[in-house]
Order: sequence, then C-alpha cells, then structure tokens
Amino acid sequence: MTYNNDYLLAKAGALVPQLMSFSQKNGLSGLEFMAGVPASLGGMIAMNFGCWDVCMQDIVHSVDLYIPGQGFVTFSNEQCQFGYRTSIFQSMDCLILSAKLYVSSSDPSSIKKTIHQYVTQRLTKQPMRTATFGSIFKNPAPDPAAAIIEQSGFKGYQLRTAKISDLHANFMENIADASSQDALDLMAIIQKNVKSKFNISLQPEVSIFQ
Ligand SMILES: Cc1cc2nc3c(=O)[nH]c(=O)nc-3n(C[C@H](O)[C@H](O)[C@H](O)COP(=O)(O)OP(=O)(O)OC[C@H]3O[C@@H](n4cnc5c(N)ncnc54)[C@H](O)[C@@H]3O)c2cc1C
Repeated sequence: MTYNNDYLLAKAGALVPQLMSFSQKNGLSGLEFMAGVPASLGGMIAMNFGCWDVCMQDIVHSVDLYIPGQGFVTFSNEQCQFGYRTSIFQSMDCLILSAKLYVSSSDPSSIKKTIHQYVTQRLTKQPMRTATFGSIFKNPAPDPAAAIIEQSGFKGYQLRTAKISDLHANFMENIADASSQDALDLMAIIQKNVKSKFNISLQPEVSIFQ
C-alpha cells in the first residue's frame, strides 16, 4: 500500500484488517466504516460494500483492472457504475487489481478509536463469531430487512441447521452442517411469508451461484 495526503493506493487482495492497520498507523481517515468485516478490497469494490451510511462508491477515486482482450485499464468512479450492493464489475469479465481511495489526514488515535467503536458495535449487534455470509436480504426502503423479518416472527427461526440469528434477523447462521440448499430454502420461506404478510418482495443481498 502507498499513500499521500489525499489518496491511498491498495491492491485488490488487501484484507480489511490490513487496510485498518495501515490507515491507522499512517493517520489516514476514511476507511474506518469497513472495520470488523471479513472482506477484501476487490470484493468490496465489486459489491459496493457499505455500512454506517458509507459505501465504496463514496471513497473510490479509481480502479485499476485487467480486462481479457483489452488489457490493463483504469476506471473512474463513474465508470464503476456503483449502485446498492452492485457495480459494473459484477457483470464484467475482469479482474480488479488495485484501487485509489480518497482519504484525509487524521490523528491515528482517533482513527483507532473509531475502528474500535465500529468493531464493538458489530460484535454486540451482529453474529460475528459464527458462520454467516453477512446480510441475507437488501434493505427495502424505508424499513431495514432485519425489522421486517423480525416482525414476521422469524428471528431465531431454524430450518434444519440453518438459523436466523437471535442477535440480528438479517443474518443466517450455520449452526452445524447446513447446506446451501438449507440456506436457500430458509430464504424462500421468509420471502414467501414477508410477501403475504407485508406485500414486500425481499431481494437477496448475498450473491447466489447455481
Ligand atoms: C459477518 C459479515 C458481515 C458483513 N457485513 C457487511 C456489511 O455491513 N455491508 C456489506 O455491504 N457487506 C457485508 N458483508 C458481506 C461481505 O463482506 C461483502 O460482500 C464484501 O463486499 C465482499 O467480500 P469478499 O472480499 O469476501 O468478496 P467475495 O465474496 O469473494 O466476492 C464478492 C464478489 O466480488 C467479486 N470479486 C472479488 N474480488 C474480485 C476482484 N479482484 N476482481 C473482480 N471481482 C472480484 C467476486 O467474484 C464476487 O462476485 C458481511 C459479511 C460477513 C461475513
């Protein structure tokens, strides 16, 4: 990773703990919202990762990628076509190599404090120590998916060994040997129930490959 006062340049394979420790050590603020999430920079860009009202779209200056047949190119933020948990990279045959991210100079101790706050919030509100794939469904405005699932009575609901978390209703935990089919079946039950109860069509946030 390299940086100046305005930008941090990182490889796509950089993991969140590496990004946190580098930015904290060098007094670079702007990436703290990622703290505590098991993800790589390339994956977060492709998914337009976001939380605490910030997403990758807000901090990406440009992305270096390799496109078979075209070679090495750089996309501006606009060319990434970021949307809610989407980007152009999800429908492109390409490999994200690195990205230039907007940062600003700040006091390392205040960055550390913010990172700590975000990690603590995740640990208290989300199942971070069990096997999950992150949020199950996108938040259908205006209500968060977790609240809708909870109101439907599914918080803690278990189908075989796939369980809706007791801590956060938009997380599914694999409490033993749940299969992908168990996860899909549980998602389908919730979608059907929420549709008939609230006429809301919950859309998966998790990518499904079949
Ligand atoms: C406990 C937990 C909490 C989470 N909380 C959040 C949250 O608050 N907000 C949120 O948005 N997400 C959250 N997630 C989901 C997850 O962190 C994101 O999806 C993340 O953006 C991508 O993770 P990843 O690096 O593992 O990528 P992967 O899951 O491996 O990949 C995601 C997509 O990116 C593509 N991709 C990965 N690397 C590259 C590359 N170099 N070039 C091209 N394409 C690439 C993959 O092909 C795939 O389509 C959470 C997940 C967990 C487990």
